[in-house]
Amino acid sequence: MFDTKKFTMIDEEFTCSVCSKLVKPLGYTARDHCPYCLCSKHVDINPGDRMCKCLGILEPIAVEKGKKDELKIVYKCNKCGEIKRNKMAVDDNFDEILRIMKENS
Ligand SMILES: [Zn+2]
Ligand SMILES: [Zn+2]
Repeated sequence: MFDTKKFTMIDEEFTCSVCSKLVKPLGYTARDHCPYCLCSKHVDINPGDRMCKCLGILEPIAVEKGKKDELKIVYKCNKCGEIKRNKMAVDDNFDEILRIMKENS
């Protein structure tokens, strides 16, 4: 058996509380943000655990280049101010990514 306790994968359909669009499951990993407006919800302490009771909106404030040139979206929670990073998903709105990059350069 694999030990999956530390990294719970919850890949489920949800309605974005920011742009109200229906977001489909991602398929290859847990969906952690909306691909349309890129906003996320502050629900995790560790990725995917849904243990955080804050439930503030994580607003994208910057885009960073990580290892292997993958892009990471930097979030700030509008409720508690915590900074979080999520990997960009394949179907994220790339115009929105570019807009954030431009705003912060
Ligand atoms: Zn959204
Ligand atoms: Zn928060």
